[in-house]
Amino acid sequence: MTEFSKQVLYVGEMASGAQLSIPVYRLKSNIAGPKVYIQANMHGAEVQGNAVIFQLLEILKNTKFKGEITLVPYANPVACNHKNGEYTLGRFDPITGINWNRMYHFNESIIAPFALQYLQASDAEVDIAFKQLLHTEITDKLEHNQYGLTTGQRIAYQLQRMAQQADIVLDLHTGPISSKHLYCPEYAQQSASYFNIEHTILIPNEFDGAMDEANFCPWWKLQTEFKRLGRNFTFNKEAFTVELGSQEQINLELAKEDAKSILSYLAFKNVLSNKQYAPENITRYACYLKNYKAFYSPMGGMVDYLAEFGKPLPAGQPLARILRMDNYDLEMSNASDKAIHYLTLDHPVLPILHFASASVNQGTELYKVFTNFFIL
Ligand SMILES: [Zn+2]
Repeated sequence: MTEFSKQVLYVGEMASGAQLSIPVYRLKSNIAGPKVYIQANMHGAEVQGNAVIFQLLEILKNTKFKGEITLVPYANPVACNHKNGEYTLGRFDPITGINWNRMYHFNESIIAPFALQYLQASDAEVDIAFKQLLHTEITDKLEHNQYGLTTGQRIAYQLQRMAQQADIVLDLHTGPISSKHLYCPEYAQQSASYFNIEHTILIPNEFDGAMDEANFCPWWKLQTEFKRLGRNFTFNKEAFTVELGSQEQINLELAKEDAKSILSYLAFKNVLSNKQYAPENITRYACYLKNYKAFYSPMGGMVDYLAEFGKPLPAGQPLARILRMDNYDLEMSNASDKAIHYLTLDHPVLPILHFASASVNQGTELYKVFTNFFIL
């Protein structure tokens, strides 16, 4: 038996008084189990996650599972509607310039007193009390803040208040033009092999304002503090940013594959017992965040992107070539050499994503690549 509900969450108001709302879908099993929270489209142009949520709903309404699954498409209504010409923008708040996915909250000063107070409590008691503390913290921020919140904080904190009560959090994003990749906290590396995603970035257990970090950092810090006090504490919380491919497009067939990839991970986490959702046998590459490098264009021009995603590119092989028609000189025998520049690196890389436009300024982030990568 699955209980199904839909809620509309009000997260802000426009100047005209129009309400900003987000649909929240909940599926609840009559069998106890983990709580799962999945959101999509925090960045405006990154829309594939909405299609994945559609496919998850389609599958889950006829699938037996344990616990509770919350699905939140269109997580950021300001960003979703932020169009300019034919393009969707919506990566940064247009008023403050801050990345929409850097506005979540974590107050590290709550950790030490909590750890001291609950030093002798059972793991189950800690789980309940710590979730309650996080809930109180964020509610206080939302409801008792004399100086107010920015538009982005008000949206982010409301999403976070739901997510932090879950054991598993997936924040669905995409790159610009991109392969699929997963941001995975270092402590949860084992779980990366259960997603059908070929590239994993292992991120340190630190808070930098993003949704995934806002969910796992408090638990990681609590574990560290307990350890300092001599207690061994294990927690079940895992949070990931799942990058589903390229922005500005949805593909419902691929979304079904992406949904199966998520269900394979959820089966590993004991949310489903359906053997049908098992990880595919694919080569999974990983690198540490410090080795995930941006390659900035050394010159302005028109880019022909050459390097394929997900294929190791040997040293000296071109990533891209840049066309500079301002340098073409009919009088010279090497006219084409002057107009075309090949961009290479002196070590092997694994290209993951590239800029969405062919026309770039000097200093534009052209590619992002894995260096010092390894097989998971
Ligand atoms: Zn994003």
